[in-house]
Amino acid sequence: MGLMKEYKRHSARVTRTKRWKALRQEALRRDGWCCVRCPERRRLEVDHILPVKTHPELAFDLSNLQCLCGPCHSRKTRIEVGLGKPNPAREAWKTLVRETHRNPEA
Ligand SMILES: [Zn+2]
Repeated sequence: MGLMKEYKRHSARVTRTKRWKALRQEALRRDGWCCVRCPERRRLEVDHILPVKTHPELAFDLSNLQCLCGPCHSRKTRIEVGLGKPNPAREAWKTLVRETHRNPEA
């Protein structure tokens, strides 16, 4: 997955700094130690709302940060990278295939 690796390389430049670690705590506190998209309170990650890759100037801007749990974060990243565009038609098709597979006689 070359795209994803390239994408993560950009944010790693930010997230390995001391400055980031302090800012991250601030973001977690501001969002009440809770994922902003679901009620998950464990495995929280601090996300750049506008990605570092395209908006490096906002990398250390608290207003560009949000707390997300692991699953919400990877879903968002996949969409940004262009790998995980939710496609309702495709999802419906996959469900249909699964159902058919489960009941070959139906
Ligand atoms: Zn979540």
